[in-house]
Amino acid sequence: MISSEAVPFAKTGGLGDVAGALPLALGRLGHDVTVILPRYRGSEPALASTDRRVVPLGGRPFDVAFLVRPLGENARAVLVDCPELFDREGIYGWGITDHPDNPRRFALLSRAALEYIRDAGVRPSIIHAHDWPTGLAPLYLHTRFREDPLIGGVATVFTIHNLAYQGLYPPEWLPALEVSWDLFTPEGIEFWGRLSLLKAGINFSDVITTVSRRYAKEILTPELGFGFDGVLRRRAADLVGILNGIDEERWNPATDQLVPVRYTADSLEAKADCKRELLRAFGLRAETPDLERPVVAIISRLVDQKGFDFLGQVLDELPRLGATFLLLGSGDPGYETMWRQLAAGYPERVGVHIGFDERLAHLMEAGADMLLMPSRYEPCGLNQMYSLRYGTVPIVRATGGLDDTVRNYSEKSGRGTGFTFEQPSGAALLRALRRALRVYQHKDEWRALQQQGMRQDHSWDASAREYVKVYRRAAARHAAFRPTTAP
Ligand code: ADP
Repeated sequence: MISSEAVPFAKTGGLGDVAGALPLALGRLGHDVTVILPRYRGSEPALASTDRRVVPLGGRPFDVAFLVRPLGENARAVLVDCPELFDREGIYGWGITDHPDNPRRFALLSRAALEYIRDAGVRPSIIHAHDWPTGLAPLYLHTRFREDPLIGGVATVFTIHNLAYQGLYPPEWLPALEVSWDLFTPEGIEFWGRLSLLKAGINFSDVITTVSRRYAKEILTPELGFGFDGVLRRRAADLVGILNGIDEERWNPATDQLVPVRYTADSLEAKADCKRELLRAFGLRAETPDLERPVVAIISRLVDQKGFDFLGQVLDELPRLGATFLLLGSGDPGYETMWRQLAAGYPERVGVHIGFDERLAHLMEAGADMLLMPSRYEPCGLNQMYSLRYGTVPIVRATGGLDDTVRNYSEKSGRGTGFTFEQPSGAALLRALRRALRVYQHKDEWRALQQQGMRQDHSWDASAREYVKVYRRAAARHAAFRPTTAP
């Protein structure tokens, strides 16, 4: 596996979680996994100079060492130590500015990773690359390493975690990345006059995955394809959606040390203690009748993607619904102000905490009755899975991973795990909220709904098994695969 981040070494988002957790889960299934990522400043000390070697790229030598670190059963990390490129502040950039040499930095990661694999002397069954930073790895396998006796022809899988990041750069970068101008075509690496590392990953891999089944379909449409829908439609037969798992140890209501009382599906009454603590944490009254009123939690980056624009249209309605709303998040200053004002206007019904607070996030998952996640798009989403586990009923827009993980509750059949709505509008959101609040009045029905959610399997093991199927499929198809452009 090749990735620009992986826990516990480096993380800026979901990619880091996946690249850290998936190797462990695959290892537990008996597969042998090495994940290769850069050694960034602060993640590990540099290696002694005697172990160093030269990796050439674009006619320049780069001073590189490989640090091997055990991760778990059958799994290890290899950190590519190249101080010139990676020993600096920031993984992708500093503040809001990307490092200007990112194409070179991540091309070197792909190049060095392939050299490491080749020199390790064991032909891997699969090379799995993630997101735009490692998009060149599948391409290099078709060019520079095509005839390599050890790794030439190894099957490749490429995972898209976020289609919005496309690794777009001026074409003048091509020689420095050792990509020939022949590949600067729409079928190769060209995207509207620029080169796209994401496109390299998509066009030169055997199988492409993304992080939910529904998102795998949505990115084929102009609405959610971010300009890549055409590129992906050409590869639609090889595009697979696999949900991310969650860290079931850290997010477990039976063992969570960050909440005041622990509970299981059979002791859900303990949630009331967490709810009391939660209301207090937001400075709200925590006695009857306030304790009886349902608490709706929102834990989110405050950005348009998460639906805060259309949620804003109906903001004033919320305090009149008969619930308490608690928001934890930060992001767009406009949304921060909007929510602060709402809390100031309805101090007994609305609590707002602007910031990032892991402990409070756990308390909210444990103490709230419902979690609201009205995303416009959501490749996978984690919070709704944590909620299901904590018996906190999710109310979500039916998009991407939200739609794959939350089954809309039917009052008729009594089946389902949450409440979903289709339209990205305030009116649709309010309808779903009202539906949830109605069911909440029926205690037994609500309890059954909570328990159905808590029984879902969101383990990494389940996801890892799906990846294994994809690896087998990639390997099997490989004989028939031809790169879209003859290198
Ligand atoms: P995204 O990666 O798009 O932000 P996800 O739902 O996939 O959304 O993951 C968000 C993660 O970040 C979850 O683990 C959530 O609990 C956490 N999170 C988001 N905002 C906050 C916050 N303000 N404080 C604490 N945790 C947060």
